[in-house]
Amino acid sequence: MLNQVRPMDPQSPAATAHRGPPALRPCCDSYVCPVCDQVVELNDFRQVVWHQRPGHQPMEMDD
Ligand SMILES: [Zn+2]
Repeated sequence: MLNQVRPMDPQSPAATAHRGPPALRPCCDSYVCPVCDQVVELNDFRQVVWHQRPGHQPMEMDD
């Protein structure tokens, strides 16, 4: 017999540890920028890059 039964438990911690992308914690997905006092959403890449610039102005938020 070439096919041997391999023990695979889908409920094991090793199988569930890497489910989905590395999501940010809900409590830590934003911060207040110390430069312009604007709330920066960490899941918005444009905002993160903007607020990393020294001496920047608050980002204009138009929707
Ligand atoms: Zn800022």
